[in-house]
Amino acid sequence: MAGKNNQKGLLVILSGPSGVGKSTITQAVRERLGAELSISMTTRDIRSGEEDGVNYHFVSHKHFKQEVLLGNLLEYAEVYGNYYGTPKDPVECVLADEGVMLLEIDVKGARQVKARMPDAFAVFINPPSEETLLTRLRSRGREGEEIIQKRYAAARKEMAEAKDCGAYDAFVVNANLEKAIGEVCVLIAGARKR
Ligand code: 5GP
Repeated sequence: MAGKNNQKGLLVILSGPSGVGKSTITQAVRERLGAELSISMTTRDIRSGEEDGVNYHFVSHKHFKQEVLLGNLLEYAEVYGNYYGTPKDPVECVLADEGVMLLEIDVKGARQVKARMPDAFAVFINPPSEETLLTRLRSRGREGEEIIQKRYAAARKEMAEAKDCGAYDAFVVNANLEKAIGEVCVLIAGARKR
């Protein structure tokens, strides 16, 4: 069924390794398309500058487990030793209203969502090269070299898994931010028409 502006509601998954510019792209796409962004639940510690209920719902391990048992999460996964999950209700509300809901989640989560909701449209953001990714991870200045190397190894594994797992409908290379944002918007617009 087609809703707003003759376009159907759509669940969009955006994934990519840390340091690829995924959050910047997601925010820009959200603004341009008037889409909603799902707020994940996580057990990781809040970072400075983050706000509970805005960046994430920060919860205890006990609370997270309860949400899993109650079936309140559309998907969940362990990422870097912490749990992250997508609350189901907001996704269902946005789709019922024919809107676009963006999920910024990892590959394990994307695979679960695609298995449960095959109509979801999944995009994976790649860096122009592995060297660029390492440079970007270092330039964020957030972590020490040991953590950076761990994230780099995890990123390479994630990119390989994304390529082979069959969950992604499209791959976008972020060599130029504006171009990447534009490409993702065009892909989503196309998927809404189908
Ligand atoms: P960060 O802790 O840096 O905010 O996020 C770490 C990773 O967790 C990112 O790759 C992000 O995509 C992933 N992530 C964030 N929220 C969710 C979620 O709800 N589900 C899953 N599966 N991954 C998530």
